[in-house]
Parts: sequence; structure tokens; C-alpha cells
Amino acid sequence: MIEVKNLQQAAEKNPVLRKMSEMGHEQVLFCQDNETGLKAIIAIHNTVLGPALGGTRMWKYDNELDALKDVLRLSRGMTYKAAVTGLALGGGKAVIVGDASTEKTEALMRKFGEYVDSLGGKYITAEDVGMSTKDMMYVKMETDHVTGIPVEMGGSGDPSSVTAYGVYMGMKASAKFKWGSDDLNGKRVVVQGIGHVGENLVKHLTEEGATVIINDINEARLQEVSEMYGAEIMMGDAIYDTEMDIYAPCALGATVNDDTLSRLKCSIIAGAANNQLEDEKVHGEAVKSKGMVYAPDFLINAGGLINVYSELHGYDREQALERTRKIYDTTLEILVKAEQEDITTHEAALIMAEHRIANAQA
Ligand code: NAD
Repeated sequence: MIEVKNLQQAAEKNPVLRKMSEMGHEQVLFCQDNETGLKAIIAIHNTVLGPALGGTRMWKYDNELDALKDVLRLSRGMTYKAAVTGLALGGGKAVIVGDASTEKTEALMRKFGEYVDSLGGKYITAEDVGMSTKDMMYVKMETDHVTGIPVEMGGSGDPSSVTAYGVYMGMKASAKFKWGSDDLNGKRVVVQGIGHVGENLVKHLTEEGATVIINDINEARLQEVSEMYGAEIMMGDAIYDTEMDIYAPCALGATVNDDTLSRLKCSIIAGAANNQLEDEKVHGEAVKSKGMVYAPDFLINAGGLINVYSELHGYDREQALERTRKIYDTTLEILVKAEQEDITTHEAALIMAEHRIANAQA
């Protein structure tokens, strides 16, 4: 086990460590176990507001440096997400280097659980890309510092419907800000990606009377969701050229970019996908100058985090939904702040998160 605790001292000698120090990480743990083949990195960015909670991602990184860069970026993002959402949580994340479909074993996951346990609760893990609730059960055999376990084991299960509810709340708050009313009845909404979150969002929107256009690469899924909710199907990237009031990216990141912004005719961008702005600064500014309202992704997709947070104190779905409903108020607050201070909504959300951390430190 290699542990880097005093980044500032170490950073003087090493450019990668310098970057870690600049991003302000508190602790980074490199885990290696020859018997199970585990190679993992746990990054604790900030624990001022509470223990660092963030999922574990298993991915075929080309090399350890790429894995390190990813975990540093993702863990910092978790700090801001928890802070702006008002949770007593810090930011952390873990990555396991390897192919989740061929290299993941019970032994590997349990060894990873031992490393999580060695941090004594400073880091709490959960599911992310390449992980399932079953993997979290293996981790749970070695540590209590894990969330996202199945409902039948007292956990909170799949968070997608709670995430979708938060996105819906953020979308309604954006409508209130833009049009003076949060009524989505009659609005044309494009939902890109009708997976776990997207489908639940389509349900809320159609129940409210919105005209929903769905887009996905999975044709069978499009037929199924269209039949269930009466949504219109639109294939390919023609969605960027269609008339719409709201664009809801619920598939991939970076879909708000130079190309799409030259085509999109929406008033609001509000969806579940992480990192929707290809470049936070450039495309945040571009959206603003076009007079579009962008609901910051890391705020409005925080329902999943709220759900696992609730699991830490004995899962109560109603409480999780009530907390998620507050995403409406926070979104509105951020949109007003951005307008008053003439900054992008993304910046306004970051500033709000940073203030909360600074106040907790004072
Ligand atoms: P999912 O894998 O269930 O669904 C994604 C859907 O997007 C799939 O139906 C897939 O076919 C479709 N898709 C993939 N590429 C596409 C493309 N090029 N064009 C159109 N559709 C495409 O994922 P999910 O759990 O619904 O999550 C959706 C997004 O929200 C992801 O970006 C995820 O990171 C983010 N998110 C999810 C949660 C959660 O609770 N599940 C929480 C926070 C953020």
C-alpha cells in the first residue's frame, strides 16, 4: 500500500503530485494486491462537510496515470455535488483498473473492500460504471462503509427513479425562471437517452402533459417507451435541429458543444447526464449568450447521491424524495444568482458549493 498524505511536500518533486496538490485532495490511496490482481486508487478530495462518498468505477484504463487523472477529477466533482445539494458529505471516488466483464471476481471486490475499510469511514463507496449491487455486497462483507446495496438487504437499491425526480424538479425550476411558470403542460421536451433515468423522466413529463420526443440508439427500447408513454420517436442527431422548448440530455456527456449549440433551438437545457458542457467555461458562456437556461448537471442529477446518503441513516424513500424535491429551490436560487452576478449558471453553482465548504471551515 502506498499512501500519499502530505501532498504539498511530495508535490515539490513530482508534476503529477503537483496537480493533485493544486486540486486540493486530502488523501489518495493506491491499492495493489498481486493475489487478486487488484489495482485501485481511492481519492478523497474533501471531508469538510462529512465523509467522502462516491462510487467505484471499474474501467480498462490504458495506464495508471489515466486512472489517477480520472479519479482525481471525479472525486473533486463529488465534493461540489454534495456541497451544493446541502448534504453532510464530502467528495471522494475510487477507480479499479481492469475489464469489469472479465477481470472482476469476488476476491478482488472483497480485497477492495478491505482497502475501503482501512480508511476507517473517511471514504464511503457505492456503485458506478462497471459495478453492480452484487459487487457492493462483496464489498460489504469487508466493510460497513458502503452504500447502494440491494433493497432486500436494507439498502436503497437502484437510485435512477430518484435521480429522474431530481432532474424533473430542476427542469420545472428552470421553466419557472424562464417563463414565470413551472407548468410543463404543452412544452416540447426532447429526452436523449431513455435508459434507467430517461424513462422515469419521460413518465413525469407525459403525466404533466408535455409533448415528449425520445431519442436513443436502441430501437427496441424506443418502440417500448413510445408505446408506454405515447412519446414521439426521433432517431439520430436530427434532434439537435428540431423545434423544442427543453433539451434533456440523459445519455452521454459533452453533448453541449460548438456543433450542437449552432443547431439547438431550445430555451432550457436540463438533463441527467454528467458533464454535459464539453468545456465548462466556453460552452457555459455560449449557452448564456444565447439566452438559454442551463440547469447545472451536477446539481439536478444529485437525486442518486441523495438516495445513497439516505441509506447511511436507515433508508427512508419518502425522506430521500423530499430532499430531492429541494433541488427545485436550489436550482432557482442558482439561476437567480447567475443572472444577478452576470455569471454562468455552472459558475454560480460552483461558487455556492465553495461558500458552503468555506463556511463550514470557518
Ligand atoms: P443507462 O445506461 O440506463 O441509459 C443510457 C441510455 O442512453 C441507454 O438507453 C442508451 O442506449 C442511450 N444512449 C447511449 N448512447 C446514446 C447516444 N449516442 N444517443 C442517444 N442515446 C444513447 O444510464 P442511466 O442510469 O439512465 O443514466 C443516464 C445518464 O445519467 C448517464 O450519463 C449517467 O452517468 C447519468 N446519471 C445517472 C444517475 C443514476 O442514478 N442512474 C445519477 C446521476 C447521473
